[in-house]
Amino acid sequence: MTRSFPALALLAALASCAQPATTAQAPQPVPAPATAAANLAVPLLDTGTTDIHAMVGRLDLEHYKATIKGLTQFGDRRQGTDRNRAAIDWIEAQLRSYGCTNTERVTYDYQPPAPVQRPANAAPRAPVARDTTRAQGGGRLRGNRLRTGVNNDSLRQQDVALRARNAQPSAPGQRQEVFCTKVGSVHPEEMYIVGGHMDGIGWGEAANDDGSGTALVMELARVFSSPDVKTDRSIRFALWNNEETGLEGARAYVTQRQALQGIESPKGSGRYPEPKWLGMVQHDMMMFDHGMPNADGTMPKEQRAEADVNIEFQATSKMAAEAAKLAWFFSLSNEKYATDYPASVGQHMTNTDSSPFMDIVPAISLRENDRGSQIGAGWDPQWHQPTDMFSTYSDKDFRLGLNAAQTTLSAIAQLTNATIKP
Ligand SMILES: [Zn+2]
Repeated sequence: MTRSFPALALLAALASCAQPATTAQAPQPVPAPATAAANLAVPLLDTGTTDIHAMVGRLDLEHYKATIKGLTQFGDRRQGTDRNRAAIDWIEAQLRSYGCTNTERVTYDYQPPAPVQRPANAAPRAPVARDTTRAQGGGRLRGNRLRTGVNNDSLRQQDVALRARNAQPSAPGQRQEVFCTKVGSVHPEEMYIVGGHMDGIGWGEAANDDGSGTALVMELARVFSSPDVKTDRSIRFALWNNEETGLEGARAYVTQRQALQGIESPKGSGRYPEPKWLGMVQHDMMMFDHGMPNADGTMPKEQRAEADVNIEFQATSKMAAEAAKLAWFFSLSNEKYATDYPASVGQHMTNTDSSPFMDIVPAISLRENDRGSQIGAGWDPQWHQPTDMFSTYSDKDFRLGLNAAQTTLSAIAQLTNATIKP
């Protein structure tokens, strides 16, 4: 994809500070930077290369698929239902079994907005001239499009057992979401946040949206929690709830915890309940990149050969320059460590759990396609539909999600100076 000059200049700057790889060389200590910005200016690309390859090798397709399959036993995991709460319990048990035992929950209240009623005698709305090529988050819609929307009709789910599993309606009230943390051994007071959302909608299994991102985060928690892996900085693995209603889970986290950053508690304990945020990386819909819809309204049946991981930042956010650097750093990590699919960088991150963070810290999202101009144009016909089921996807689809996992794992491993100690 053609991108604007600041990104290319940053890419050149990052590339020019990379050292050639030498396998026998011990990882060089990296001076501790005060901020994420300083961190990204450090030539990290070839520190601990051998260890990072080994960590990436601990991800595998079958384990990733099994984790997605495990999530789909709870149907669409819609927020405010027993199946959503059961899925949170299951995710927490999995994280603990991986060695990420310091699990915690964020508790908040969710009340759905009242439907807007127009009085019967209201004057007809004046027609609004709309630019039909404008995509959400910025950018432009181009080429063939399909209709998008949320399925609310239970009868469109052909699988009767799944229809029954998804039957309980959402009730307003208390909500929870779970996270666990890899504590850094040099800078426990600083962290990267890696997220996906565990709730879904549409009367399917929310396998891709967002079982694929949830499983990715869980797989990274597994690899980083291995007893022989050490990181200088902390990493938090967060599985947001209420994404589908408007990012309320991620917003609750920011509201409750932003002011706690970097505070040692109890004093002198060396423990930091909320390490300072260095960056936030969201994963939402990771698997399906079959390209643009065909002109006749059908979709290509296979993952396209040129499928890619789309890394987006938001050009209008307060942290846009630093977020762009983070995005290009992830792109370089993908080039080096992802086995099958390349990455592209875009500047229109939108409608995702990294949005509430984007004016506070560098925030990016990884997806199967650009959210505004591609997913928004109907490039994923399973989106919020009964067909978003495990059985819909082929190994070529699952493998795109695995490549996103390889991308984030290798990038975060470098940013936290991760090593394997025998
Ligand atoms: Zn989603």
